[in-house]
Amino acid sequence: MFKRSGRKLLRRQPAPSDRLSAPIMKSPREVQIMREAGRIVARVHAALKMVIRPGVSTWELDQVALEVMRKYDATSAFLGYRGFPAHICTSINQELVHGIPHKDRILKEGDLISVDVGVRYRGFIGDCAWSYAVGAVSDDAAALMQVTEASLFEGIKQAKVGRRVVDISRAIQRHIEGHGLHVVREYTGHGVGRQMHEPPQVLNYVAGDADGNTVLTPGLVIAIEPMVQRGTWQTRTLRDNWTVVSKDNSLTAHFEHTVAITNNGPEILTLP
Ligand code: MG
Repeated sequence: MFKRSGRKLLRRQPAPSDRLSAPIMKSPREVQIMREAGRIVARVHAALKMVIRPGVSTWELDQVALEVMRKYDATSAFLGYRGFPAHICTSINQELVHGIPHKDRILKEGDLISVDVGVRYRGFIGDCAWSYAVGAVSDDAAALMQVTEASLFEGIKQAKVGRRVVDISRAIQRHIEGHGLHVVREYTGHGVGRQMHEPPQVLNYVAGDADGNTVLTPGLVIAIEPMVQRGTWQTRTLRDNWTVVSKDNSLTAHFEHTVAITNNGPEILTLP
């Protein structure tokens, strides 16, 4: 089930026969470090939000992100991961995930850009993706972003002690499909900690997978990340072997937070 371009930053959905492996629980001390990692990711996004506008190249965004990471003694979790060549992922319009920043890729008025930021800080990962409007965007693009962002928070609402991973998946899927949009199947959310991708996988739809049965308990930290497309749930990978686009080239959006399960409810570690 490995595509030719099987080098991925996001966790791909494993074959149904894959067995459940146990989540790696974090101590309060480890969650505290992840809280700091998450705060750095949020600062990177805040800096990017300030500079995203028509005329800026995605390479410049990469440099802004790098500067903030350095300032806070963090490093990119993406650079070099399975050979990924940049510090962040920048994916424009029909590009869903894993777009590579380039000096000649210039943002235009009306673009929708999704930026995925992962940092490593004191051995732990913070992971957050956000879609941004470049200037004024179409009503379709605005609606797609709004529904995808809202679906993320519908998922987060379910991230409570005693619920199961599938409760998050169901809430996200319902929200997105209730608005006539499509949930990507091939890429999923995931546990996160010392590794960028830990068990359990966190699907954005209900599939009856073993990981969906994982009961949420304090100390579990997960990245919840709905990836949504206007025309189809299917994707393909471009010849650069990285950039994933919607199969029909329809618009896409991607929102992600790193969330800790606590006795006081979900704690979003990457909140601005
Ligand atoms: Mg992620």
